[in-house]
Amino acid sequence: MNELQLAQLLGINQPSPIHPLCPNWQGIENINLLVKRDDLLHPIISGNKWRKLKFALLQAVQQQTQHIISFGGGFSNHLHALGYCCHKLNIQFTAIVRGDYSSNLSPMLQDLVKWKTNIQYVDRQTYQERNSPAYLSQLIKHSPKACIIPEGGSQQAALKGVGEILQEITQPIDYLILPVGSGGTLAGLVANTNNPMYQLIGIGVLKGQDYLESLVQALLPNPHTTTAQWHIEHDYHFGGYGKSPEPLKQFCSDFTQNTQVPIEPVYSGKMFFAIQALIANQNFAPGSTVLALHTGGLQGAR
Ligand SMILES: *Cc1c(COP(=O)(O)O)cnc(C)c1O
Repeated sequence: MNELQLAQLLGINQPSPIHPLCPNWQGIENINLLVKRDDLLHPIISGNKWRKLKFALLQAVQQQTQHIISFGGGFSNHLHALGYCCHKLNIQFTAIVRGDYSSNLSPMLQDLVKWKTNIQYVDRQTYQERNSPAYLSQLIKHSPKACIIPEGGSQQAALKGVGEILQEITQPIDYLILPVGSGGTLAGLVANTNNPMYQLIGIGVLKGQDYLESLVQALLPNPHTTTAQWHIEHDYHFGGYGKSPEPLKQFCSDFTQNTQVPIEPVYSGKMFFAIQALIANQNFAPGSTVLALHTGGLQGAR
């Protein structure tokens, strides 16, 4: 199987479209706002999770991997996307989930059950070990043929698939903006930028000043020679990961009504809120083109 056949088998619509966006925001007339709709890549395999998983899945299929193990929270877009892919590709999937949801399955976990995922609930302390070599070698001892994919699908193998986003952007832009959770998507864009004509701006969706930057750095190839200009904004996490206070929820529903583009409060809502604030604060030079990457994630809002 090659990459085209894999995308076809899973029903991926790549490339994703780019279109202008004109929400009723203060100062919007001073810039060109565009959105790249990675949320439309697939109804289930959410936006950036496809980008990050593509080549890991291709390798799994080519090497006839029988079993994949990965990690996430009870509403994880990553586990959802990977669970669906494994189901379609006939690969056994084990999801290690933070917290015990066994008596109260989220819609995401109900889908995993439907897709025959082996779900293992672990406490927070155990979940903390998800990247530790000792814990991982224990897992491999129990399942010697399994391939382990880290939380969020963020690993070096994810960078190439994320780089395809840049190949699909054919018009000149000045800023490319995206939400940042585990850093894999931003790292993929940084690693694959060889023309620093635009700035990459990540919007941190959790309290993670320095921490998020270190995640991105750790994923970059070493030695790494990108000329990308990038930074992360830390003022728009709304109290932390998964926190969605009323003003943010209101912003999301107003935005969706106003633009017909669906967003949710965990990732894209925080990103668009940040873009609105950055425009109001005149952060972007007048006349500049700002491209927002809609990374999907709408299942998590169920
Ligand atoms: C996982 C996810 C992100 C975060 O991407 P990272 O590569 O982990 O930084 C952003 N948006 C959505 C919708 C996601 O599901």
